[in-house]
Amino acid sequence: MPDKIQLLPDNIANQIAAGEVIQRPASAVKELLENAVDAGASEIRLIVQDAGKALIQVVDNGSGMSETDARMCFERHATSKIKSIDDLFHIRTMGFRGEALASIAAVAQVELKSKRAEDEAGTYIEVENSRVQKQEPVAVANGTSIAMKNLFFNVPARRNFLKSNAAEMRHIVDEFIRVAMAFPDILFTLTHNEQQVFYLEAGSLKQRILQILGNPYNAKMVSVKDNTAYLNIHGFIGKPETAKKTRGDQYFFVNNRFIKSAYLNHAVMNAYQEMIPADSFPMYVLFIELDPTQVDVNVHPTKQEIKFEDEKIIYAFVQAAIKHSLAQFSVTPTLDFDL
Ligand code: ADP
Ligand code: MG
Repeated sequence: MPDKIQLLPDNIANQIAAGEVIQRPASAVKELLENAVDAGASEIRLIVQDAGKALIQVVDNGSGMSETDARMCFERHATSKIKSIDDLFHIRTMGFRGEALASIAAVAQVELKSKRAEDEAGTYIEVENSRVQKQEPVAVANGTSIAMKNLFFNVPARRNFLKSNAAEMRHIVDEFIRVAMAFPDILFTLTHNEQQVFYLEAGSLKQRILQILGNPYNAKMVSVKDNTAYLNIHGFIGKPETAKKTRGDQYFFVNNRFIKSAYLNHAVMNAYQEMIPADSFPMYVLFIELDPTQVDVNVHPTKQEIKFEDEKIIYAFVQAAIKHSLAQFSVTPTLDFDL
């Protein structure tokens, strides 16, 4: 019997691996926005057509890339953000896996333009099926523009799995908001089918929350701030009367990374106990900061699940901080005495 195992060609291996990182247009949006944040941009523009099925483009004014880096960034495991496994536990950037652009280049037609401030000309690169099709110098502004067209054009099964434009657009807006909320000092815009959906000027966290969640929260939020040697928390929570029947306006960030945590959500709900009806949900936008050695962000490709070294301490801390804020601003219901 002949041996039968063979290595998959790179572009097929990339396509398979892409399935983990890029499930839908919104996953690509998240990766591209995070790359722009990591590049130190102060302005980030997201442009989509057909809910991202036809086009997802992110334009930033960040660091840009050299000619060689502009080619290298599409290689799998190519990253400027970590060098050793140890770095993973000191991570300060949103990215580190070096997989996003390789994945995107495996499942979409990509056009990259990038220029560093110190370079005369920028670089234009076209990639399809993980292969560079074209590369030439180009006159562009400092920063990077990545346009990915026709997501899953070469993976029909995946393309057929995409939901309606309305549903895919909701996911895109969710991801956009999560990144924009975490970086209020960056200007973000979102344009869909030539219509501007968001124009978020740079400002304070409070301003960003009002820009995104709406002015009705103005004067209806209280700030949260607490520090210990182990961790810090800051952010805003809604006064009890703003609690809604639907979950939604609830955001947890750990070291600026949006995370989903039923456990920490429970800590917040617990602090509100008896101040809001049982079946309602308070607004919160909370940022927890702790030493990166105390969190493992590498448990899931999309990094929305993380592991804490000591989850119980964080639970107790979050709950106490919220109770403290609610009490300090005396948002316990005022009693009306009939005199
Ligand atoms: P990761 O973000 O995990 O490093 P990516 O595949 O997302 O991996 O990106 C690969 C590399 O390409 C990054 O490490 C970075 O050096 C470079 N890069 C990607 N996007 C940008 C951008 N918008 N501006 C500057 N450099 C970028
Ligand atoms: Mg990245």
